[in-house]
Amino acid sequence: MVKKVDHIGVAVKNLEESLKFYQDVMGMDLAGTEIVEEQHVKVAFLPIGDTEIELLESTDPEGPIARYIDKKGEGVQHIAYKVEDIEVAIAEMKAKGVRMIDEKPRYGAGGAKIAFCHPKSTNGVLIELCQRD
Ligand code: ZN
Repeated sequence: MVKKVDHIGVAVKNLEESLKFYQDVMGMDLAGTEIVEEQHVKVAFLPIGDTEIELLESTDPEGPIARYIDKKGEGVQHIAYKVEDIEVAIAEMKAKGVRMIDEKPRYGAGGAKIAFCHPKSTNGVLIELCQRD
């Protein structure tokens, strides 16, 4: 069902500061940034091989990334797997007993269709299903 790791989402307090590490130390290139209003997040895209690191900074103290950092600190927040058809993937997950945070696809950074699985069903990892057309 899953094709590859589409991206890894990393929660950061400050995008500009974090980018220095990825660009200056790791030598990675910034492909762009986007504000995703629905998620209250500013995203920076750093492609590496055929996957991507996405740095996520909250734009709202009550947003999901701000709450994540309050609870767990900065770090890997989710792993996104590429799927061909997100509607089919969601139905398959549900049929296999996985609790979904999103029962319907929603807008993700870069114009993807995404849906999150509940970490209680995935050994504690926030898994994102991600379809790119
Ligand atoms: Zn993501």
